[in-house]
Amino acid sequence: MPGMAGSNALALAPDVLVRGAGAVGLAAALALARQGLRVALLGQPTAPSISTPGSTPGGTDIRAYALNGASVDLLTELKVWEAIPAAARTQVHEMRIEGDDGASVLEFSAWNSALAELAWIVDAAALDAALREAVRFAPHIERVAAPVSASLTLLAEGKDSATRAALGSRMVRRSYGHQAIAARLEATRPHAGLARQWFRAPDVLALLPMDQPRHDHGLALVWSVPDERVAQLLALTDEAFEAELAQATAGAAGELRLIGARAAWPLSIGRAEPLHGPGWLLLGDAAHVVHPLAGQGLNLGLADVASLARILTERESWRSPGDVRLLARHARARAGDTLAMGTLTDGLLHLFSHPSPWARELRNRGLGLVNHLPPLKRLLTRAALGR
Ligand SMILES: Cc1cc2nc3c(=O)[nH]c(=O)nc-3n(C[C@H](O)[C@H](O)[C@H](O)COP(=O)(O)OP(=O)(O)OC[C@H]3O[C@@H](n4cnc5c(N)ncnc54)[C@H](O)[C@@H]3O)c2cc1C
Repeated sequence: MPGMAGSNALALAPDVLVRGAGAVGLAAALALARQGLRVALLGQPTAPSISTPGSTPGGTDIRAYALNGASVDLLTELKVWEAIPAAARTQVHEMRIEGDDGASVLEFSAWNSALAELAWIVDAAALDAALREAVRFAPHIERVAAPVSASLTLLAEGKDSATRAALGSRMVRRSYGHQAIAARLEATRPHAGLARQWFRAPDVLALLPMDQPRHDHGLALVWSVPDERVAQLLALTDEAFEAELAQATAGAAGELRLIGARAAWPLSIGRAEPLHGPGWLLLGDAAHVVHPLAGQGLNLGLADVASLARILTERESWRSPGDVRLLARHARARAGDTLAMGTLTDGLLHLFSHPSPWARELRNRGLGLVNHLPPLKRLLTRAALGR
């Protein structure tokens, strides 16, 4: 089993150094080690930190991720997907998005698009544990306690990466003045694989189906609210918080009971520039941050990993992994996707948080209009799968 090593303890110089052991760094280490590249991994082997006022006791990540088909494909290839307990990954069969006029609705269905599911909701802590376990047994990965020299350094240190600035890259970030409150709930009504989202300016609230703590009755909450309301909502008793939720969701998911702690994450949008330089490349949140309303941040990070892995597999034999042309190839391949997702989530958020009557009219009419265009809905569904 590979253990923790200092730079001198590595038998052979690594081809790749991965800095940051969040989901993206771990997936990158696994994907490149599978190609036979020697990977050094620098990062805490423990669960990810929660950079919030509401860290849960013990630091467990209480979030659940909506993962698209492309992310599931990558995790399957890395032998991580099947290692996640079945109750910690739940299929989304339908999606219902409600506007703020109480009547406009946009609905997506896997059946209508001839798909097995629209997405999966995955317990963040279970995904992290499965990734770390896979890394523990991967033959070409060595954990290191300090940076080591390698042909390619991958920076997957998350949005607050310190090394990024040291390499001369800068992330221009804009705060939304909102935070996302996450929590787990148990509902009296079965979720039946339905993910719900309410745009109620200025809030965006999502209830995602989970089979924890009880099959068909668990929900993951992601509730984006203005900064000034966060402390108040976190300080409420469980009963008072449940009452706020009942009001915000109009009882649509049945009676909701909190399971465990609540925690909040500050929300921002950002993109680092440049994304790569001689022998280094940014991946995941270190490269781009988006609002979680579309549940795409980790999907983008895992797509970065898949793209890099493909480009390194297909590289000319005389190019080393850190060859700047390969990194430029990767950056070009990913530019459209990340820019589009940032622009889409940002645009939606502005449209749905704008208080003016014309914006309200526009967003609600827009939802209704798209809902009556099945071909467009099928197109959007397939695009969201990321395949
Ligand atoms: C409330 C919320 C809900 C979300 N929901 C979704 C969703 O449904 N779907 C989705 O796709 N995405 C979602 N996201 C986005 C997703 O959480 C992130 O995109 C993803 O976690 C980024 O992973 P990462 O590995 O790039 O960064 P991180 O998870 O931040 O990991 C970076 C790691 O690097 C370590 N590190 C930092 N500095 C150093 C250093 N100098 N040396 C070594 N290690 C270092 C950190 O400790 C950390 O372990 C959500 C985000 C939030 C806030």
